[in-house]
Amino acid sequence: MVDLKLGTYPPMCPRSIFLEKQIKPALEGKSIVKTSWEKYYTGKYSWHGDSIPGFDELPGHTVIFADASYILTDKGALIFYSYPDGGLRYFHKGEVVDLKKAVKPTSHGYHAKIFLDDGSCIGVNQYGWGTLFKVFDIDLKQIDAGRADKSGRYPFLPKAPIDVADEEDFTYGRFRGWLSENPGVNIIESCATAKGALRIDNPVMNYILLISKIHPRTKTRALANDEIKMLFDNTKKLINEYKSGIRVCGHTDIYGEAVTPRNDVLWMTSSVFGAPCPVCAAPIEATPAAGTKMYFCPCCQAIKK
Ligand SMILES: [Zn+2]
Repeated sequence: MVDLKLGTYPPMCPRSIFLEKQIKPALEGKSIVKTSWEKYYTGKYSWHGDSIPGFDELPGHTVIFADASYILTDKGALIFYSYPDGGLRYFHKGEVVDLKKAVKPTSHGYHAKIFLDDGSCIGVNQYGWGTLFKVFDIDLKQIDAGRADKSGRYPFLPKAPIDVADEEDFTYGRFRGWLSENPGVNIIESCATAKGALRIDNPVMNYILLISKIHPRTKTRALANDEIKMLFDNTKKLINEYKSGIRVCGHTDIYGEAVTPRNDVLWMTSSVFGAPCPVCAAPIEATPAAGTKMYFCPCCQAIKK
């Protein structure tokens, strides 16, 4: 197992589902011919250092797996990358490799570029807390090939304690098990945030809690069986609809295009504060949790302690 200290690294689900659909066919099977890395801005903070160990050794490797968080090569190099929305950018052969720079980063700004044997290039723009680019050396024998064949995923990669987009991983039993191990934790922190099991983006998780009629700060031990089942079923349904493309969340795709949401999910950020609840029309309120604010409906979601 790769030992990653995972923070609040984007992209989280459901955005990760859409990026994966694009990045996988763009990268898998291609060989790396060149890499380049630059620090384009010196800001107040730095945590990347002045080089990325292993990055210069990537030429000659072939990509055997790629998703929104990882690139794995045939020689056992595992690249982990996290970036803000729009930070991952794919350029076709002949296109000018023009990665946008951060406007006013408080941190250092970085560009990492990987050039592929068909003339295309994948670029990653990094600035701000939570961004990361790291190359690990891994033993390819660790990969559970049987499972990878079935689901097309590599479950040993630490993306979230439970991979909500993986049918085999996200089961009612595993979800219940996680909640019972963390009885004193708020349900929002049990599911989302950096500590949560599912790493679903907070605004989406808060919507799932709304339609499940569970207050974000209800302790997991206070939840009745039917509430946990409702939460699990609603989460599964929503994620499956994102996977099948019935729902689309707003994001910037790997070609730099802004994708319009096709979705009735209320993205529960500060912009919905005071707006009518989509279920009962009461004004949406906010409550502090996990060092930020969580949005909820005071009528639909009663707190249980
Ligand atoms: Zn309501």
